[in-house]
Amino acid sequence: MGHSITATLAGRYQRVREQLEAACLEAGRPAHDVSLIAVSKTRPADEVAALADLGQRDFAENYLQEALDKIRILAERDLIWHFIGPIQTNKTRDIAANFDWVHSVDRDKVARRLNDQRPPELSPLNVCIQVNIDNEDSKSGVSPGQVAALAELIAGLPRLRLRGLMAIPRADAEDCGRGAFRQLAMTLSSVSNTMPGLDTLSMGMSDDFTVAIAEGATHIRIGTALFGPRPARP
Ligand SMILES: *Cc1c(COP(=O)(O)O)cnc(C)c1O
Repeated sequence: MGHSITATLAGRYQRVREQLEAACLEAGRPAHDVSLIAVSKTRPADEVAALADLGQRDFAENYLQEALDKIRILAERDLIWHFIGPIQTNKTRDIAANFDWVHSVDRDKVARRLNDQRPPELSPLNVCIQVNIDNEDSKSGVSPGQVAALAELIAGLPRLRLRGLMAIPRADAEDCGRGAFRQLAMTLSSVSNTMPGLDTLSMGMSDDFTVAIAEGATHIRIGTALFGPRPARP
């Protein structure tokens, strides 16, 4: 790990933390309300380690095989791993065994399998329901109207702990996602009427996290602003 890469990472990390704190201040929220999750997909384990050395604990991955390699290499460190990618049912066993959180649960079958496959020695798996808030064909996630039913199902699964909702607004939204973030927050509050204890709005990425914080995000998922532009996937 070159000294200059570490210095660059440190600079970016400090900048994102400052922006997070400024956005919280602006929104009248304490900075500890919002957890920063570093999205480390496509980045090597030594960059994750360098960020962990700076104090970052939460990391998120989209691609299972790549994630498992990093989780194994960094097993001695006390990191919290979040799965945020689309879930194929044949991947649920490894996800249930290796992650602390899954943000992208979007159907009954995936929820049931994660529950059945969560190893008994681990605490219940934290999950969010992914909501396709802008109704895009290309995107995974349930529609807002389907959230309540999936939430009920998950609440009945003892090895899962339903924490809240996750969304990725359309990239070209003119309002930087504000309307979508607001709708996700309203969906969470409506589910919370019958289901107390939900505490998570996983929303906001490099380009829109200050808007997401203004709209109530509790977990922001930041890749590019921390690690720089991602290489294209082979
Ligand atoms: C890649 C990814 C991110 C991070 O995106 P950046 O724009 O690089 O911050 C966040 N959430 C999900 C679900 C992702 O797939």
